[in-house]
Amino acid sequence: MTTDCSPRIGLSLVAVFGLVTASPQPASAGGIITRDVKPRPSFPDNERILHRYFGCYSIYDGSPLDCRFTLDVLGLASPPDVAGNNGGHSHSPGRPLSLNNAPLEYGADANPAPYGVTGSALSTPPRTSAQVKHVLPEVAGRIATDALVETPYGWSCVSRCYTRTSWRFNINYDVQVRELEELPSPGANGPYTRVRAPDSNHLDSVAFFGTRFAIQYLKLVAENYSVLSGKTLSVNDISLLKGGLFDINADWAMPHKSHRDGKDADINRGNIGCDQDHALRLAVDMLLNPVTTPNGNKRSALLCESCKDGTKCRKHVDLEP
Ligand SMILES: [Zn+2]
Ligand SMILES: [Zn+2]
Repeated sequence: MTTDCSPRIGLSLVAVFGLVTASPQPASAGGIITRDVKPRPSFPDNERILHRYFGCYSIYDGSPLDCRFTLDVLGLASPPDVAGNNGGHSHSPGRPLSLNNAPLEYGADANPAPYGVTGSALSTPPRTSAQVKHVLPEVAGRIATDALVETPYGWSCVSRCYTRTSWRFNINYDVQVRELEELPSPGANGPYTRVRAPDSNHLDSVAFFGTRFAIQYLKLVAENYSVLSGKTLSVNDISLLKGGLFDINADWAMPHKSHRDGKDADINRGNIGCDQDHALRLAVDMLLNPVTTPNGNKRSALLCESCKDGTKCRKHVDLEP
């Protein structure tokens, strides 16, 4: 990558590179300034947009220089077959790396690839640094990126350089709901079991994750239910280990519009439909406050959802507001 560049005596360069931070920094004594990147983007939506900035500055007077850059979203971090990187989705074809597969946004992108951007620092307003916008997907995972920033002709890099005329940044970021915990496998005769249909796309080991509050309350609901009915609570999906879209059909789409943030769980029907399971209703209502619906009404935290036969048989519990 070394180019034939004869550095000008006394000229040097500072690059600014960062995520989520807006203002370029004034030049300091020779070197690259890296503002701390936000390393763990998360849901919900208001944290889902990442901005990455590229800029180069003279260390003499702080004036911006027109450095070229490329940014590529490479895919999942390696190895992509571990849950910490793929978010618990063992299936890979078609995985979105941005919301609805939208391309990275940059005003003067010279690269037609959707997840690759090429430009230069002064080609778009405010003409001090280039800003690339990445709207993160609803699917959790660790996304790998590679960025190369090159000095203008005749200038050289003086600190943290990749070559004498460039910097390079390999950054992975986690798209996730933070700090979800697993509902433990119950011991023998525990008040609940974990039961899902075979699903090689989302293994059982990644499908029983919730917030600390939700997991604690689910255990308490199970204990209440056991006392009231003498039955074991059979727990189905909660959320994936890093949250986000839980596409039970492995199609990167609905139907699980909930089950994204570790706050709700499905209970298996067993041999009694939701609207008949009075013990479960009581076990839930004893512990959990009613849920306020979007139109302002209140309902039980136990939601009976429709089955194909038209009955309200499916059991869904909102464990945390
Ligand atoms: Zn999936
Ligand atoms: Zn549900």
